[in-house]
Amino acid sequence: MAEKLLNYINGAWRESKATTYLNVPNPATDEVLATVPLSPPEEVDEAARLALAAFPGWRRTPATARIQYLFKLKMLMEEHFEDLARSITLENGKALDDARGEMRRAIENVEVACGIPTMMMGDFSEDVAKGVDEYMIRQPVGVAALICPFNFPGMIPFWYLPYAIACGNTVIVKPSERCPITMQKVFRLLEQLGLPKGVVNLVNGGPDTVNALLDHPAISAVTFVGSTPVARHVYARAAANGKRVQAQGGAKNPIIILPDADVSLTTRIVTDSAFGNAGQRCLAASLAVTVAGAEKTFIPALAEAASKLVVGNGLEPGVQMGPVITPQSKARIESLIQKGLEEGAEMVLDGRNASIPGHERGYFLRPTIIADVPPGSTIARTEIFGPVLGIMRVETVEEAIALVNSGEYGNMACIFTSSGAAARKFRYEAEAGNIGINIGVAAPMAFFPFSGWKNSFFGTLHAQGKHAVEFFTQTKVVVERWLETWERKF
Ligand code: NAD
Repeated sequence: MAEKLLNYINGAWRESKATTYLNVPNPATDEVLATVPLSPPEEVDEAARLALAAFPGWRRTPATARIQYLFKLKMLMEEHFEDLARSITLENGKALDDARGEMRRAIENVEVACGIPTMMMGDFSEDVAKGVDEYMIRQPVGVAALICPFNFPGMIPFWYLPYAIACGNTVIVKPSERCPITMQKVFRLLEQLGLPKGVVNLVNGGPDTVNALLDHPAISAVTFVGSTPVARHVYARAAANGKRVQAQGGAKNPIIILPDADVSLTTRIVTDSAFGNAGQRCLAASLAVTVAGAEKTFIPALAEAASKLVVGNGLEPGVQMGPVITPQSKARIESLIQKGLEEGAEMVLDGRNASIPGHERGYFLRPTIIADVPPGSTIARTEIFGPVLGIMRVETVEEAIALVNSGEYGNMACIFTSSGAAARKFRYEAEAGNIGINIGVAAPMAFFPFSGWKNSFFGTLHAQGKHAVEFFTQTKVVVERWLETWERKF
């Protein structure tokens, strides 16, 4: 029987009383790995109340003591690195090397959060008026709910969790119901830290569980990463309930290729960006905009490189691209490809109807490239979230930048060129939160903020680093005067 996943509330593993459990299949084989409960609102209520009860004691624990748990966590994550990476590949499908990269990014966030005693420091000004001092201190906000997507089940909770607890907050993690196994394993490690009960909690579930978190009065802060329609919903509902909230949404990332771009570097990097993780990265290249005839070189080069990618079970050595997450996702991607062709695009490399020997039940597509994507067409505007690269042609850098900026998303935009002037103009004008210059996946390191613009992000403060510290703390300003005894007039 497949493992029944548990919740972790107030320092104890608990079986959910959910009436519905969903299967969690391995997308490469369709074999059921576990079942996940859709936890009802009563279990959210219990987790939220107990997390709130744990808050005062945890808040009073000095930051220097709080980070000792994170040092231990980093060591445990290193020790269990391969097991966690394997778990990501099993439930998500991505190639094992991509899963390893994901866990490395998760650990880097723990490392950065170990600097909280410095990052959380306040400000002090002496004599703002005669004998009056003013200072600002940072205090934790309370209970934070972290709502996560399927595509980075090991990393995305770590954009927030280490900072939230290092700052003195308590947390409830809600993993994606499609990839909940890795967090279960991470919580087995968190359990070994000896944290006070209620500091870290895990509640599995789906939309109803999320809505219960958004409505719960004991929760003060909500982070969300997922698709744009849900991000918009989470942002509005949590804010209406008076919570601070940041919600990262979907993406449709354009990359500009100039004729002076290095052919082999650009081809390798764009191929990885578009097809790595089967295109299920929020920083996946989705539209290539070739300028002034660059397509003559790059379409054949990209098609050749993409056709050579080894597609299969991500656990097998040499595999570079795994399946997509569900059969429904596969069907949706194939129908978007078809729609693109109907709207006038030209098939260059057709990855539909893929069958991987020995994995006939897996949800596989092969890399797909479509050229002459008409501006404004469905495939030009819609987030596909699969291994599909559309190509559009323009004549000038100005036109390319205008095309980039016409999209409704703004997660990432990249340029490939050997012209510093073109790169600078692009960096200056492109409307996106993450910019790549001869880089195809412009993922900020843990000490930089992570977020998109436009419909890729709702909120102000972003994930990771200093932004996360600001998000998980509230500032208090104290204006202070002390009369010296000899000045007192009784
Ligand atoms: P999703 O929006 O379907 O789910 C995300 C979370 O929201 C899950 O925990 C899910 O249980 C919950 N949820 C789903 N529907 C809900 C509803 N109606 N009401 C309340 N909660 C709901 O996203 P996904 O498919 O898991 O992830 C893929 C999406 O995430 C893509 O759009 C991708 O671009 C985006 N993403 C964005 C970033 C970023 O940094 N901007 C990073 C990773 C993924």
